[in-house]
Amino acid sequence: MNLARAPLRDRPASPEPHFARISADPLADAFSGRMGAHARGSAQPVPADEVAALWGQLTATPRKGPSVAYVHIPFCENHCLFCGFYQNPWRREAGAPYVDAVLAQLARGAETAVQRGHPLRAVYLGGGTPTALATQDLVRLVEGLRRHLPLAPDCEITLEGRIVSFGLEKARAAFDAGVNRISLGVQSFDERVRRRLGRKSTRAETIRFLDGLMALDRGAVVIDLIYGLPGQDRATFRADLRQAVALGLDGLDIYSLKAIPGTPLLIAQDKGKLTPAAPEELGHFYADGADEMDRAGWEAISTTHWRRGTRERSIYNHEVKAGAHCLGFGAGAGGNLHGHGYRLTPDLDAYRAGTAPVAGLMRPAPLAPVHNAIKAGMERGRLEAAPVDAALAASGIAACFDRIAAPLLTQWQQAGLMKAREGGHALTLAGRFWQVAMTARLMAWTDARATDFTTEETQQ
Ligand code: SF4
Repeated sequence: MNLARAPLRDRPASPEPHFARISADPLADAFSGRMGAHARGSAQPVPADEVAALWGQLTATPRKGPSVAYVHIPFCENHCLFCGFYQNPWRREAGAPYVDAVLAQLARGAETAVQRGHPLRAVYLGGGTPTALATQDLVRLVEGLRRHLPLAPDCEITLEGRIVSFGLEKARAAFDAGVNRISLGVQSFDERVRRRLGRKSTRAETIRFLDGLMALDRGAVVIDLIYGLPGQDRATFRADLRQAVALGLDGLDIYSLKAIPGTPLLIAQDKGKLTPAAPEELGHFYADGADEMDRAGWEAISTTHWRRGTRERSIYNHEVKAGAHCLGFGAGAGGNLHGHGYRLTPDLDAYRAGTAPVAGLMRPAPLAPVHNAIKAGMERGRLEAAPVDAALAASGIAACFDRIAAPLLTQWQQAGLMKAREGGHALTLAGRFWQVAMTARLMAWTDARATDFTTEETQQ
């Protein structure tokens, strides 16, 4: 068998599960399955009978340090083919009562230590489809957020949405209310690909709306594009990127299509109705994306996000990856308080009644500060040793990161995923593509070995 041309599953894996395959094409096959390992660390769920007491303690403890808020609007006009986040069908009459319920949650917490504390750097209105809300409800919501939360003067307020339910009048009203960043899931400009995805707006409508938003000149406008979609090839993806550049947008995220169980896409794929790109092609789509953005002179501020100029800051995304407190609002909203991940109940009736706010609570992983330092660096594509060393020391580990991780980082350099540089390591293009898989492995490696090093150092 010609291993270089064999399907990925037939190529030999490394004997050490965290190591990468050494190959002539690391973009294609450094690991088996880019999305298999999520960078979640080893946080542990809190037993149900302990949740209420711990939640009471957490919300009564003053919040200090970097903080953001997330507001969840759990309604969608349709279930997008690739999406694993769909919760409830949108009904026009559900919007106003839902916003009332979120405003009630904000008002209930207004005097608590956790909500009053440190200024918030960013607020993200996501979902679901926040732009499906009627203009007056959207405005009431943003005004309520500004009234009840201690927003920093330069707080980034992002409104996520879809073009089909938006419009320039609604956008103007959102900016007037205080939104200063709009993030839209375009996924592809290609008409054929859009039709296969079931996108309701046409290419021409999408471009016209984005042009109109940019002409308002009221805040940052960023979009998401996806690669590996059914019917998309590398040429159409490059054309999508050139279209985004031509629009003069402020920011662009590019994501790989993920095979998420239960999504309409995976069901259609299993029935042979749709064929997305093969996994080993995805790295080359990513390389095309990075190349187009580089040619256009856009700045890579993370492994998936580029910006043109300085209006785009992407504060929310960065702070969440770095372990900031995140206050969650809305049914099904996720958050992070004093290192504890949580999710509010997704049940709309229970949420409106305010009776069962917390559906799940996770204790932080023992080395959570180390995980956060690793995630923040890897996300930017530059893993500096100093913040990870500081987090190790704060966690009571007496060894430095380079000593703990040297065998893994050296192997990844041999595999073409990293380069040593002054004070740390930079991801190569292939490393940037495999960042999520590498981050999960690096955290697991550090968890498994940090304690050995403590013991060893203590015995010396
Ligand atoms: S992509 Fe957005 S709008 Fe589409 S189903 Fe998912 S959450 Fe809803």
